[in-house]
Amino acid sequence: MSGEQNRTAIVTGAARGIGAATARRLAHDGFAVAVLDLDEQACKSVVAEFESVGGRGLAVGADVSDEEAVTAAVERVASELGAPTVLVNNAGILRDNLLFKMTVTDWDAVMNVHLRGAFLMSRATQKYMTEAKWGRIVNLSSTSALGNRGQVNYSAAKAGLQGFTKTLALELGRFGVTVNAIAPGFIATEMTQATAARMGVSFEELTKTLVERIPVNRPGTPDDIAHAVSFFTSEGASYVSGQVIYVAGGPTT
Ligand code: NAD
Repeated sequence: MSGEQNRTAIVTGAARGIGAATARRLAHDGFAVAVLDLDEQACKSVVAEFESVGGRGLAVGADVSDEEAVTAAVERVASELGAPTVLVNNAGILRDNLLFKMTVTDWDAVMNVHLRGAFLMSRATQKYMTEAKWGRIVNLSSTSALGNRGQVNYSAAKAGLQGFTKTLALELGRFGVTVNAIAPGFIATEMTQATAARMGVSFEELTKTLVERIPVNRPGTPDDIAHAVSFFTSEGASYVSGQVIYVAGGPTT
C-alpha cells in the first residue's frame, strides 16, 4: 500500500472483472474502496482480498439504476468509509441483438445501467467532491462506442458516456474535479465469455479471431484497465479532464 491519500473511492460493478481489478488497484494506491455491485455478498470477497494486504474497504449491495438504492449506498459509504471523492462508473450489462430483434426491455436495461446508473452515481457523489474541492470520476466507455454490429443499445450507451464525461468535465472542473473515460477494447472477463457463448463459439476461438486484429497481439486484462483508472485518479492527473482514452492494444478506427 502506498497510502499516499486518505481518500475514499467507489467502484461500481466491482464484484468481478474490470471493476474488481480496479477496486484492488485503487486499494493498493491507498484509497479506501467501496466495492459496489448488485449482490453485497459477492462484493465481500473482493474487499476481504485487499483488506488482507492492508487495504480498507466496504462491500455495498446496490443497483446503480435505482435512485433510492444509489442515495442510500452513497450515504452509507460516506458514513462508514469516508466522503467518496473518487467514483468509477464501471457497472455494465450486455443485451446484444440486431435492431429488428431488439426488445424495448433490452434497450431500456442497457440504457438504465450504463447511462442512468452513471448519472445517479455521479449526482449522488458530486456533493462530496465539490465540498472537498477535489474529485475524480472515471466512466467506462468501450470501443463499441464507435459502432459494433448487434450492439445498437450498448454502443449508443457507451457513446453517450463519452458526451456525459465531457459535459461533467466542463461543469465540475472549477471544483477540482476531473472527469475522464476509458474505452476498453477486448478484455477477458465473464462479460466477453458470455459473448462467446451467445455466439456459439468457445472463448478460445473468439479470442483467437479477435487477437488477430489487435496490434499488441493479446487480449486485454482487467489489470490493463485498472492501470488506466489508477492514472486518472492519481494526484498528478489533475490537469487531465474530459478525455477518452482507448485501451485496446492499438489504435482504433
Ligand atoms: P462483467 O460482466 O464481468 O462485470 C460487470 C459487473 O457489473 C458485474 O459484477 C455485474 O453484477 C455488475 N452490474 C451489472 N448491472 C449492475 C447494476 N444495475 N448495478 C450494480 N452493478 C451492476 O463486465 P466487465 O467485462 O468487467 O465490464 C466492466 C465494464 O467495462 C462494463 O461497463 C463494460 O461495459 C465495460 N467494457 C468491458 C469490455 C470487455 O471486453 N470486457 C470492453 C469494453 C467495455
